[in-house]
Amino acid sequence: MTASSLSGRELAVSIRAQTAAAAVAQAEAGPPPGLAIVIATGDESSAWYVRSVAKAAQQAGITCTVHDRTLGDGSADAAVTALSEKLTALSADDAVHGIILQTPLPAAAKGAGLASLIAPGKDVDGANPVSLGRLAAGLPAFAPATAEAVIALLEHYQVQVSGTLAAVVGRSTVVGKPAALLLDRNATVTICHSRTPDLAGVTSGADIIVAAAGRAGLITAEYVKPGAVVVDVGTNVSGDGSLTGDVDSESVSEKAGALSPVPGGVGPVTTALLLQHTVQAAAGLQGRP
Ligand code: NAP
Repeated sequence: MTASSLSGRELAVSIRAQTAAAAVAQAEAGPPPGLAIVIATGDESSAWYVRSVAKAAQQAGITCTVHDRTLGDGSADAAVTALSEKLTALSADDAVHGIILQTPLPAAAKGAGLASLIAPGKDVDGANPVSLGRLAAGLPAFAPATAEAVIALLEHYQVQVSGTLAAVVGRSTVVGKPAALLLDRNATVTICHSRTPDLAGVTSGADIIVAAAGRAGLITAEYVKPGAVVVDVGTNVSGDGSLTGDVDSESVSEKAGALSPVPGGVGPVTTALLLQHTVQAAAGLQGRP
């Protein structure tokens, strides 16, 4: 068996075209939608991602500003204060409709609850605990764009989710915890992490695997049930600068029914959804349940 490709490019183009049309309409009636990205470390893959989101935003007619609050060897308090002040200011700025607090954060800022400073109506990447709580309760909120991109990709390819067993590898708030989105669609979800015993035993029983561990090539053929649908969220920068996923695509594509590529799978859809959320936020909407 050779797995079919769950490319995200076509879907992303369609979402971005709709978003650009909505952004043009908004700009005719008032100020254009505005997205602000706050970065706090010099992480290489994160910088690459921010550049691609900023470029896509400009192409869609969304004003995008990047606020670098990377501190050299500043104190922990200074890091938290600088980020807090920026997030508070952006939340109060009428020209800004969407705010992204880019991870990773400096060690000092982890656990500081910074995302709760993002106004929920501008929380286009679903980072504020209010958004995550509303999502878990099935209320309208912006979901983390990556988690929503996984669902959007499955829906685009008409993959049946209801009644399936799904294994999510990774429990971050970006991907793992929003597994509620799969649960809402009536999958039975197992969330795995670094201390899950017999990971291959769990994933090889799943109809749908979402790999989001940030470990290049972790998911090999032995982790996969024949015919399973595998969504690769991982983006790992190789020594030569290229991107690879968490899935060993060579072996898994011989066994899975469908596999999303890296790059070109979840990534472009995530970016497109961030822009869509920004335009929705500018229109006073708050995501989907
Ligand atoms: P993260 O916060 O570091 O979380 C990684 C998760 O994977 C943790 O829950 C960790 O378990 C688990 N894990 C690590 N090694 C494991 C192993 N060997 N077996 C099982 N579980 C393991 O990372 P993240 O922010 O969620 O990102 C995950 C990946 O997705 C990264 O490659 C990132 O670059 C990528 N990403 C892609 C997009 C996109 O749009 N395509 C967007 C965001 C992130 P513990 O909790 O036990 O440590």
